[in-house]
Amino acid sequence: METSATEILGLSNQELTDLVGQLGQPAYRAQQLFHAIYRQRISSLDELTTFPKSLRAAMTEQRITLSAPKIDKKFVSVDGTIRYLIAFPDGQSVETVWMPEGDGGEAGDGTDAGDEEEPTSDSNKKNYDRATICVSSQVGCAVNCKFCMTALLGLKRNLTAGEIVGQITAILNDHSVDLDKERINIVFMGQGEPFNNYDAFIKAVRLLVEGVGFPQSRMTVSTSGVVPRIYDLGQEPVRPKLAISLNASNDEERTKLIPINKKWDIASLVEAARAFPLRNRERLTFEYVLLDNENDSPDNARQVVQIIRALGDKADSAKVNLIAWNSGPEIPFSTPSDSRVHAFQKILIDAGIPAFIRRPRGRDIYAACGQLKRTQS
Ligand code: SF4
Repeated sequence: METSATEILGLSNQELTDLVGQLGQPAYRAQQLFHAIYRQRISSLDELTTFPKSLRAAMTEQRITLSAPKIDKKFVSVDGTIRYLIAFPDGQSVETVWMPEGDGGEAGDGTDAGDEEEPTSDSNKKNYDRATICVSSQVGCAVNCKFCMTALLGLKRNLTAGEIVGQITAILNDHSVDLDKERINIVFMGQGEPFNNYDAFIKAVRLLVEGVGFPQSRMTVSTSGVVPRIYDLGQEPVRPKLAISLNASNDEERTKLIPINKKWDIASLVEAARAFPLRNRERLTFEYVLLDNENDSPDNARQVVQIIRALGDKADSAKVNLIAWNSGPEIPFSTPSDSRVHAFQKILIDAGIPAFIRRPRGRDIYAACGQLKRTQS
């Protein structure tokens, strides 16, 4: 009987140790493999030069594979943002977005995912001081937020931990990033609801920290409000920062925009956020996509103030990112005017809540928030 193939991209140190044991190899081979896959970011077994050729041949014979996701297409925005179509061997693909920041300002993804530190001088050789990678966790999404183009795809399938990590390593390689010198943030805000693919998502986080070499403080995960997983995330020893996509100021409106609000309403979200253990200097982010004349009135802003105040002790650590909605075909909303966005922000700031307006990135190439739908042009 033919043995099934074993994909090693996405395996943990322990899983690799078991694998090399089955091959009759000493444990240090697992360390070499782990280092090559994640730190060196090799994309095929041929690049595994620390292994003798005979061992690589034996691995191939045993149908052990390393199939790094491939960059299928790249769309480059006038603002430097790049939307990648990343293809997997089964023919599915997702989008991953690279957002360079050359101005020392806050991250363009809307999170300021990283630590507050100065860019390193070595990275100045490139045309960015730092960058953010927005990664997908599923092919499509089942949450069905009414303002999101990804929702139109429906859920095709979950990604594996290896496919999540592989999107990131493919893009790091495309930019020849040296993680010891360059400051790169990761946001789990691409296609999919990461908390609906929790095990693969959190395994990918561990591999990115222990293998690829990202500090956990440079990662942010955004959820549409899958409340039980917020509690789970709080218990993880290694985890990204948390961002909650609020996007409405009352349950009636939120249920209309994000149907899972029927299951987990704003009160249950607030309760989970109150219980979420924050690290030193860590902020809890609430994202609010502003839709013209839908959720962007002064009354809406005043209701958001009440929601943040309901966080009790945690209110001091909360901040709100305001994102003027990015238009997309087939979606019946419009982008609010700058004056409406600023008026909304002012109400929050006057109430003592840090509120930031996020620059849209890559709108012209459908790379901005809520626009990821594998658009081919
Ligand atoms: S906004 Fe996020 S959670 Fe909502 S449908 Fe789009 S991808 Fe899914």
